Amino acid sequence: MAELLYTGKVKQMWSTDDPEVLRVVYTDQATAGNGEKKDNFKDKAYLNNEISSLIFQYLEKNGVKTHFIKKLSDTEELVKKCDMFPLEVVTRNIAAGHFSSRYGLGEGRKFDTPVEELFYKSDDLDDPIMNESDAIALKIATAEEQKEIWRLSRQVNRLLIELFDGAGMDLVDFKLEFGKLANGEIVLADEFSPDNCRLWDKKTKAHMDKDVYRRDIGDLTSVYEQVLARIEKTLKEN
Ligand code: 5GP
Repeated sequence: MAELLYTGKVKQMWSTDDPEVLRVVYTDQATAGNGEKKDNFKDKAYLNNEISSLIFQYLEKNGVKTHFIKKLSDTEELVKKCDMFPLEVVTRNIAAGHFSSRYGLGEGRKFDTPVEELFYKSDDLDDPIMNESDAIALKIATAEEQKEIWRLSRQVNRLLIELFDGAGMDLVDFKLEFGKLANGEIVLADEFSPDNCRLWDKKTKAHMDKDVYRRDIGDLTSVYEQVLARIEKTLKEN
C-alpha cells in the first residue's frame, strides 16, 4: 500500500512498492511568503510537472546526476529516494528579489560572476542565510559535500542559461535542492520550474515566473504555459 510520506507546500511524496523509489504528486497550489499567501491555479500541477520533467531530462542528458526517473502522469513523477540536505542552494546571475532588497539595489544588474548563497531550509526559522562553516558546524553538509553541491549547481546554471537563452528568456536566479542516494552519490532533487527560478523575457523584461503571483502582476497559469511552450520548442529544435 502506498503511504503518504510528506506533504509540502505544493507537492506530496508517496512511497511505492520499491523502497528506493518515490512518487511525487504535484498540486495546483501556489504559495508565497513562507505560505502566508496561498491560492489554487487550474493546471498548475500539470505545468510544473511538465516543465520540471523536461528540464530534469535535459540536465540528465547533459551529464547532471538527478533524482528523476520518469514522468508518470500529467501530475505525477517517479524519483529516486534521497536523504535530503536541509539546504536551499541559490544562484543569481542578475540582481533581483532578496538580493536587491538586502543591498538596497534596483533589480537588473548583471553579475560578472554568479552570486552563490546557501540557506537553511526551515519554515520555523524562515529559511535563514548560512555560510559554509555554519553548515559544517550544524552537521548539515561537510566541506566536501558542499563542494560537490556547488559543482553541480554551476553545471546546472551553465546548461540552463543556454536553454532559456534559446527560448528568449534570461535566467535571473534559481533555488536548487540536493539529496544523497543510498550509494552516497549527491544528486539534484526537488523540482525546477518557474516556482523556484526567475525568468525575464529577453526583449520586454516581463516576469515569466512566480513573481507574477508574489507581486500580483500577471496571470500565473498563462505565464507558465508560455514558459512550457517556449522550452518545448527550443528542445525540439536542438
Ligand atoms: P530570493 O532570495 O530573491 O527570494 O529568491 C532567489 C531565487 O530562489 C528565486 O528564483 C526564488 O524563486 C528562489 N527561492 C528562494 N527561496 C525559495 C523557496 O523557499 N521556495 C521556492 N520555490 N523558491 C525559492
